[in-house]
Amino acid sequence: MGKSIAINAGSSTLKFKLFEMPNEKLLALGAIERIGLGNSDVEIKYGDGKKYTDTLDIKNHDEAIQLLLDKLISLKILESFDEITGVGHRVVAGGEYFTDSVIIDDKTLQEIESLREFAPLHEPANVLGIKAFKKILPDVISVAVFDTSFHTTLPEVNYMYSLPYEYYEKHKARKYGAHGTSYRYVSQRAADMLGKPLEDLKLVVLHLGAGASIDAIKDGKSYDTSMGFSPVAGITMATRSGDVDPSVLQYVMDKENITNFDDMIDILNHKSGLIGISGVSADMREVEEAQTENHRAHLARDMFMNRVVRYIGSYVAEMGGIDALVFTAGIGENSITLRQELTDQLSYFGIKVDSEKNNIRGVERDISTNDATVKTLLIPTDEELMIVRDIERLRK
Ligand code: ADP
Repeated sequence: MGKSIAINAGSSTLKFKLFEMPNEKLLALGAIERIGLGNSDVEIKYGDGKKYTDTLDIKNHDEAIQLLLDKLISLKILESFDEITGVGHRVVAGGEYFTDSVIIDDKTLQEIESLREFAPLHEPANVLGIKAFKKILPDVISVAVFDTSFHTTLPEVNYMYSLPYEYYEKHKARKYGAHGTSYRYVSQRAADMLGKPLEDLKLVVLHLGAGASIDAIKDGKSYDTSMGFSPVAGITMATRSGDVDPSVLQYVMDKENITNFDDMIDILNHKSGLIGISGVSADMREVEEAQTENHRAHLARDMFMNRVVRYIGSYVAEMGGIDALVFTAGIGENSITLRQELTDQLSYFGIKVDSEKNNIRGVERDISTNDATVKTLLIPTDEELMIVRDIERLRK
């Protein structure tokens, strides 16, 4: 029996989950945060409720990975590195090129590096993670799992922007979407729960985390999705704006004397969404707590819900119906009130949630009333499990 590790490397973070395979037993999980920023936080959870934490300076991803591997040994989670038989990396952008996960060799790594322009905030960190593991465990199979692959099935009519066609032809400027690994996992679980083949279902999946998106799944494939060329598009998020009229950006830049478009993009990514509107927090829990006394917090939550409802409506119309609505990720799995209020607004579709069944967090469950004609499912996502499953699939 081998052990596979799923890695999600961000610009200053490294998250991981270690599984025993092929039985998919979770052995450890954790994160290293503030890499390269001083006072890096390390947290590893393992065994029956054991937890290791530390704060120290970790300069770069190489150091973070070396520390993580050393800790797996010193905490006796592993006896030796030889037990690791697979490493899977989440990679944000796969462009049109990567329609599925791949085994990483020199050629694929070069191709991933060439897609840097499609995710300038994320891809460099993903590549650092891949290279750092390759250095320490050169003989272990290493797999890249792309956030975008699941969306390479989008029909042309949905991935094209109404811009001059040559921008697509020359530069591949189009919608790519994100959260594909989560959608792949959740949609298959939904089909299992409903006892029907995924190919026969029309699903709208709400991946509502700090980064949030919505996916329409038809004929077992991603049919439309709310994120766009980059993850800044779509619904209101923790710190991202979602869809805005580009002209308002030019207007604000003029008024606020913002001369560099990169700075405006940074505002759209990090200072907008729940935090930008509420001024209170980027965390939905804190926004919900503040909303009774704070108009802007109330507005932020209302706008979040409005954008979700708007996308669901358009996806039901695009697919010509819906069999099930699925909630996943931090907000979707945990905000009981938001799930209830959202679905109350959707009763005309035949969506009805049983408030007792809904009174739960982070557990897989059909939360619909018995007479609901459209099912509502709560399915905790597991992108890391999908990543280690891909290692097993590609190893064969
Ligand atoms: P990401 O993977 O994009 O960082 P997650 O899927 O982990 O995000 O979701 C994190 C978010 O989930 C938090 O920012 C918080 O807003 C939200 N969240 C977690 N628990 C709750 C809760 N009980 N009520 C409302 N929102 C919650």
